[in-house]
Amino acid sequence: MVDLLIFLLIVWGGWRLVKFFIKAYFDSLNSAQEPNDSDTDTDLIRDPQCGTYFLKQEGVRGVIGGRTVYFCSRQCYERYVANRSAK
Ligand SMILES: [Zn+2]
Repeated sequence: MVDLLIFLLIVWGGWRLVKFFIKAYFDSLNSAQEPNDSDTDTDLIRDPQCGTYFLKQEGVRGVIGGRTVYFCSRQCYERYVANRSAK
């Protein structure tokens, strides 16, 4: 009789675990379809040098003063660095 109770408990616990994984699986499917706008490479960002908006993935990345800054072109990056060091 005790064995049967333990067996039922294991089945019940196992079913709860399966349900949890099924829910987690479908939740991950749903979140994958939603647009993730937290930090994607398709963000439009502004060039701090010339003010142009451009796609982050097409920009030039530079680390200035410990911060990561994106520029529309190599020239803008170099101009920005030159302006900084001139001050
Ligand atoms: Zn620019």
